[in-house]
Amino acid sequence: MSSFKLKVLLTGAAAVGKTSLVQRFIKNRFQQNYKLTVGVDILTKDVEFKPNEIATLSIWDIGGQQRFEFIRSTFYKGAAGALLVFDLTREQTYIETRKWLTEIRQFTEQNIPFVFIGNKLDLLEDVGEVIDRNEARSFAENEGSIYIETSAKTGENVDEAFTELTRRIINSRTQ
Ligand code: GDP
Ligand code: MG
Repeated sequence: MSSFKLKVLLTGAAAVGKTSLVQRFIKNRFQQNYKLTVGVDILTKDVEFKPNEIATLSIWDIGGQQRFEFIRSTFYKGAAGALLVFDLTREQTYIETRKWLTEIRQFTEQNIPFVFIGNKLDLLEDVGEVIDRNEARSFAENEGSIYIETSAKTGENVDEAFTELTRRIINSRTQ
């Protein structure tokens, strides 16, 4: 039985793959055609963050159009951690992660753990590198985080991203 119930947030620009990551993680499926998230979706999944230790994540996936403060404060309230996602094929989404991190820190009580995600790794071969991935790594490390590259399409590193976030949340609480 799980004794940890953790609220985690999916943050980052529109169409970076937030909904796709959580769908892959929970339902192990992927959809090519883009459906805008309307409002907030909350999905739940148990994560075994170390052998025989389970945490129940409630994963909050917010629609990009929800720019209203009262909705956003509800979104952030009580959050234990966040995935901060950008799209490896669109530089602007990487630049915008700075703003998202500022917002996370502004709306949450302490410095909650986050994991920095470069998504759409499967497209990199065709598109080529549009951001400096070493810089992404050092940015994450300087912020006390970790940089993970994922593909919601192939599933690469998706479980790892959520499990790593869970571990970081638990570690930050039991130290
Ligand atoms: P959100 O707005 O951040 O929730 O983004 P979505 O999850 O809705 O994804 C936006 C679009 O990118 C959709 O068309 C997805 O199929 C596509 N997408 C998401 N993740 C990946 C990925 O890892 N690889 C590829 N090739 N496409 C992706
Ligand atoms: Mg979405």
